Amino acid sequence: MALYRKKRPATFDEVVGQDHVKEVLKNAIKKDRLAHAYLFSGPRGVGKTTMARILAMATGCAAGPEERPCGVCEHCRMVREGRHPDVLEVDAASNNSVEDVRELKEQILLAPVLAPKKVIILDEAHMMSKSAFNALLKTLEEPPEHVLFIFATTEPERMPATVKSRTQHFRFHRLSEETIKARLKALAEEEGVEVEEEALALLARAAEGAMRDALVLFERLLVVEHRPLTRADAERLLGLPPAEAVARLLMELERGEVERALELATSLFLEGYAPRTLVAELKGALKERVLEHPDPALLEGLLALDEAEERLAKEESRLGLELALLRLYHAMRGRAKPSEPPPPRPKPTPEPPRPKAASPEEGWQALLKGLPAPLRAVVREARPEVKGGRLVLHFRPHLRFHIERARAEQKKIAALAEKALGVREVVVAVEEGEGPAPEPEEEEPSPPPPPPSPSRLVDDPRFKRVLAIFNAEILSLEERPPTKEA
Ligand SMILES: [Zn+2]
Repeated sequence: MALYRKKRPATFDEVVGQDHVKEVLKNAIKKDRLAHAYLFSGPRGVGKTTMARILAMATGCAAGPEERPCGVCEHCRMVREGRHPDVLEVDAASNNSVEDVRELKEQILLAPVLAPKKVIILDEAHMMSKSAFNALLKTLEEPPEHVLFIFATTEPERMPATVKSRTQHFRFHRLSEETIKARLKALAEEEGVEVEEEALALLARAAEGAMRDALVLFERLLVVEHRPLTRADAERLLGLPPAEAVARLLMELERGEVERALELATSLFLEGYAPRTLVAELKGALKERVLEHPDPALLEGLLALDEAEERLAKEESRLGLELALLRLYHAMRGRAKPSEPPPPRPKPTPEPPRPKAASPEEGWQALLKGLPAPLRAVVREARPEVKGGRLVLHFRPHLRFHIERARAEQKKIAALAEKALGVREVVVAVEEGEGPAPEPEEEEPSPPPPPPSPSRLVDDPRFKRVLAIFNAEILSLEERPPTKEA
């Protein structure tokens, strides 16, 4: 039997995490005040269905109110083994037909056979058809005493409001790496297996908050025959590059040895490591450094990697990897130094009438779309400006690699720009120093964001990104008088 099934908790106390859900449910059971319908939402693998089953066990458990569910009485065992006639587990994704809905309705009307309540667990509830929801709505409006509904979903926002409002909603959280690691460690001890802490930490991280994934990975690691199981074993299992290689990559970039870093990255790429994995590993290494030394340059680097990882998730390429490393390098070296005074610019010529077909914004998006992926990654870094029948691509001065590439491919870009924006020519320009214009972080080059103020900091996408990277939340906010930039 799979480990995650074998180790599936049978009591509230065995569930790892989700304390905010457990406490409320335990209390409701103790006081015999369960709601008629619950909605469990949250990412996959964090224990929604497990909690639903435990709740189903509790409704008919033979133990006293304080101990429910015991996990061992006949009722609990039948639920655990999925053979209780009064506990219905329905996968909404695959039971969507009119037939299914009719059957479900009939089931709801029938009184329970053995237990005091009939429990209906609807997994992936957001996948239910409209007619299924409508059929249930009646029952939810006037719930029969003997029915308990538990909706489990990864996408609560796709549930109809009419249904949602008639349920008690619990949001399940991702589990922290420490929580997962602690659970794996306990499991290793139970099974009498020697595993290096670092190996467990890697699995915990790879599980991304889902205990189920962590257990599946752990089980696969157990297949390795020698003991103790090491970090290298875990790296191989997860297809991760060796930690030393990642550390070296980071070190070369910090020293300014860009060429060597790129060479090393290329050799890892050729060995078969995915660009996204490499960037994710770099991010992990940098994250540890930031926690040790919260240095703004390191934080910039981390943000650059986070963005790069997101892009690589959409399309992986060696160029994407190289760009990520270059971005990291520039971010860690701080923003571009003020360059020499710019050559005087020609007086702006009067703007020609706008092209009638599409807005510049639409045209720009169309142009980006038309470019081959590697070139798109380069061009999207520019601030576009359509002026006097020309498309000017403004690059920040430190993006030397981008500028070079854009110049080399100018003809290709121009051909597409003509179609997308109706311009005759494409010009690659380098912005001056810190440029007064706000840098477009996102793809849209408009409108400029309002200046940051303390109260808006929490809305700042970059700030949000940092919070997400560290899986952190804001506990309190403090306003301070503005200080001089360090
Ligand atoms: Zn029991």
